[in-house]
Amino acid sequence: MTHPQPSLPRSAHPGAFGRATGAFERAIGRLDAAAGYTSLHPEVIERLKVPKAVLNVSIPVRMDNGELRIFEGYRVHHSDLRGPGKGGLRFHPQANLDEIKSLAFWMTCKCALLDLPFGGAKGGIIVDPKLLSPMELERLSREFIVRLGSFIGPETDIPAPDVYTNPRIMGWMMDEYSRLAGRRTPAVITGKPLGFGGSRGRNSATGRGGYLLIQELARQRGWNPAETSVAIQGFGNAGQSIARLLHADGYRIVAVSDSRGGIHREEGFDAPSLIHSKNESNRLDAVYCQASVCEAVEAKRISNDELLELEVDILIPAAMEDVITGANAAKVRAGTIVELANGPIDDEADRILAEKGILVVPDILANAGGVTVSYFEWVQNRSGDYWSEEEIFRRLEIRMKEQFAQVQKIAQDHDITLRIAAYVLALRRIAETVEALGTSRYFTKSTL
Ligand code: GLU
Repeated sequence: MTHPQPSLPRSAHPGAFGRATGAFERAIGRLDAAAGYTSLHPEVIERLKVPKAVLNVSIPVRMDNGELRIFEGYRVHHSDLRGPGKGGLRFHPQANLDEIKSLAFWMTCKCALLDLPFGGAKGGIIVDPKLLSPMELERLSREFIVRLGSFIGPETDIPAPDVYTNPRIMGWMMDEYSRLAGRRTPAVITGKPLGFGGSRGRNSATGRGGYLLIQELARQRGWNPAETSVAIQGFGNAGQSIARLLHADGYRIVAVSDSRGGIHREEGFDAPSLIHSKNESNRLDAVYCQASVCEAVEAKRISNDELLELEVDILIPAAMEDVITGANAAKVRAGTIVELANGPIDDEADRILAEKGILVVPDILANAGGVTVSYFEWVQNRSGDYWSEEEIFRRLEIRMKEQFAQVQKIAQDHDITLRIAAYVLALRRIAETVEALGTSRYFTKSTL
């Protein structure tokens, strides 16, 4: 029997958060390229084009000097097709709804790609946390949870750390949620400190996930770590963790940067020393430390843009979105790019890099180690059975390498980039759920 050709669902009128605009529209646009490589009912893509729900709150906080300041915060549920929403909360002065919607969409794809039983969500507060005292930061974090109320929960939406948020903040948030709920609820938030039901291995998981993929590429391509140079843009949690792991394997970390600029040294840096000094002084200095005594080593100061254009074997953007764009992609000279940040390469740059033959390991795969161990944390919180670090790392490695192999196979079979292949795999998983609900193909059939 032939089925009627599925047609696009009729869209509702754009509402307050309506159809896609700006960054979100561009993010969603990537699905169209992937959809051509798998047979999908058009309803699958249509369902992903509008976030499920958007919450916009004002958060009043009494500052240490007695003044009241009102902060603005968001939480976006992009999709709950495959399970409760999952995704981080960022504290950033440039956070905005359009960006958070894109990030929530990427979480939907990332969770599907790693085959985690979650949908996608994301949130944030417009704030520069470096300008707050510890007590102001705690009040802001707790008050945000009060405002989010039942928008989050262990079975509805589970936040986690993201840019400029950390385990301590997650701990305050879980504590506040539990206080309001009247019962200890560790599974409402992941990325918590160990003392609050956090998981072993969560803090370094994003970096470790990217590292595991590099390990796999090295095995496939016969890379020798000592002859492989690495530049890392962004030296927060993810950048530091991957630097530590690659350095331990003998890779040459030749350049590193933070929001204020970078340092470059052809012989390579001692990553543990950079991490120690950055975390002590909150400055990125070219140093070599023994015990806790650090001495300066010779290095060149470079800008973030210069770092991205260095001739290195592996470039790891580990900070913010849209750092490699149509404006600078032609100047990128790395052999391989591993996207530890979310969305560091825009569409135009993606095309240019592909033409130049630069291999890009896409964000929804490369940085998925974080949410994968978040999933393990959630499982442990709900079962009360806590696993060893070895067990966490073992499970993470299996999951990352398994999905990487599938993505590589799809890329090879269709001669497409790893990014498009990753979206193909994510879409196939989401499509399973959409098909189970029933599409027009099912509902227009005359008999069962
Ligand atoms: N913020 C991280 C990400 O972008 C982790 C999310 C999570 O653990 O839920 O993937």
